[in-house]
Amino acid sequence: MPVLSTVVIHNEHPADPLCARVQAIISERIGERCPARSAEGAAAKADISLHIDPALPPEAYRIAAAGRGVCVAAGSARGLLYGAGRLLRESSYSSAGFTPCAWRGGSAPCGLVRGMYFASHFHNWYHTASEAEITRYTEDLALWGINALMAIYPAIDLEGWDDPQAAPAMQMLRRYARVVHGLGLDFALGIGNTWFKGTPKELLAAPLPDPTGRRGNSGYPICPSEIAGRALILDNARRLYAGLAEEGVDLLVHWPYDEGGCACPRCSPWGANGYLSLSRALSLLARSYFPQVKTVLSTWMFDQPPEDEWAGLAASLAGGNDWCDYILADSHEDYPRYPLEHPVPGGLPLLNFPEISMWGLGPWGGYGATPLPGRFQRLWDQVKRVVRGGFPYSEGIYEDLNKAVVAQFYWDPAANAAQTLHAYAAYEYTPAVADDALRLCNLIELAHTHAALQDARRTAARLRDSGAPAQQVHEWEHVERLIEADLGAAAADAGAGQRAAEQAHLLAEDINARLPERAAASWRWRILYLRAVLEPLRLVEGGLQSPEARAALRELITLFHCSATEAEADDLHRRVRPPLRDTAD
Ligand SMILES: [Zn+2]
Repeated sequence: MPVLSTVVIHNEHPADPLCARVQAIISERIGERCPARSAEGAAAKADISLHIDPALPPEAYRIAAAGRGVCVAAGSARGLLYGAGRLLRESSYSSAGFTPCAWRGGSAPCGLVRGMYFASHFHNWYHTASEAEITRYTEDLALWGINALMAIYPAIDLEGWDDPQAAPAMQMLRRYARVVHGLGLDFALGIGNTWFKGTPKELLAAPLPDPTGRRGNSGYPICPSEIAGRALILDNARRLYAGLAEEGVDLLVHWPYDEGGCACPRCSPWGANGYLSLSRALSLLARSYFPQVKTVLSTWMFDQPPEDEWAGLAASLAGGNDWCDYILADSHEDYPRYPLEHPVPGGLPLLNFPEISMWGLGPWGGYGATPLPGRFQRLWDQVKRVVRGGFPYSEGIYEDLNKAVVAQFYWDPAANAAQTLHAYAAYEYTPAVADDALRLCNLIELAHTHAALQDARRTAARLRDSGAPAQQVHEWEHVERLIEADLGAAAADAGAGQRAAEQAHLLAEDINARLPERAAASWRWRILYLRAVLEPLRLVEGGLQSPEARAALRELITLFHCSATEAEADDLHRRVRPPLRDTAD
């Protein structure tokens, strides 16, 4: 293939706004990565042709030789996005220009719902980014194969509908729906029984049984078995749906716990009783605003403690189901056993909810990128034969590497995390550093996991010493054993984490010196590089107060749009703010 200084693109469907958008995305990405410029041209002279072939499945694509260049064909304009992603990643970029990809073949996704959940709260990046940033980021994720994006109304941050931030929060949600639909993807809205900070106390739910301490009792859940509580939830939902009526909602995602749930006698067991009744009511109400809406029922933390929630859900859907389309399951650690050992309730497609954002480290994203390819490969291997997609939980852009890994699992269950990261590094950084970038991710994962093991050991010891309930102690001892199994021999080596962190820093400096200017300055490299700078420092007493660490934290704060000072940050924002102290003492 020749190196092109001008790339002639022929779009067979210029009147289709999404096809035009795909063409613009291709031109823009090429222009960012090399000096080649794009021009429109006739099919006979095209280097890249874009073509919709109704014979292909809607989301499938095929890349074939055509004339002097390549043709990207897809079953729909959405499928063309996925083909464009493959084309861009398989092509080469240099100071001389652009070389179109040599890969030829076709591909179709296995996953039905290839989602991402942007947890749009706590004034994290999703909460504060501009429309242009959100648009660009959603495009980038679509190029990796996602077809749905979920956001939430951040009621947890608000007093009520009269809160000065309530209207901007609705604007944010509408912006997400607009951006997602502008790309031809599905917009998913999270919903449940948890609403505003200012909810009247007498309507609040009964606190949940939480013997392991991991179910969470955050937020302001309302009891839906109280007439006034149910009316308030439905009224809030009505206002939320009405606010999105113009943009539309494609998927409604019901959430049981953290935030959510009620343990009163009339709601219990929540997952098989109050939750199902409320979720059905919220679904039927949603249909009057969004007639085509489909529903996802999450079972997050079901049966912890055992309350026959799974069995009750199965019995309920077996008795008739006029409202639920997908079942979602997952947990903090291993995948729940029930849906792996029993038919999925209602015979519905099963989704997962990989927690790609918070595991083993706080503040979330506080030290930059958090690549955990080994962990997500292991978790995926447990479910890849049964799961048909899902919604990875994301608190920000710092786990962009994990998003690419999971998006590719959803596309092809046989995808391999290491290969995806290699492709990511070749495309986002430069092919010459891809092997080393993968090694860097593995070193950071080792240091991260080793530190998570020390944390789990400390937590278990603290719980034992303080006479906490046995189940909480057992939970953390179980986490310890899981991490030890992941680490293998490194678990017993006290210095393994620190050594990995120091090697990561050296390797990151070496890669940094070899990157082209564009890649070196890109946020996707900076967050990985800064993580490598911070990793050895965060593991030693006082390391984060060093000038080098403070500069790195300050840069992350800017990249993640966090509050510049600690004093401005409330407790929720501190969960996502890089831990730069206000003073250097
Ligand atoms: Zn209740």
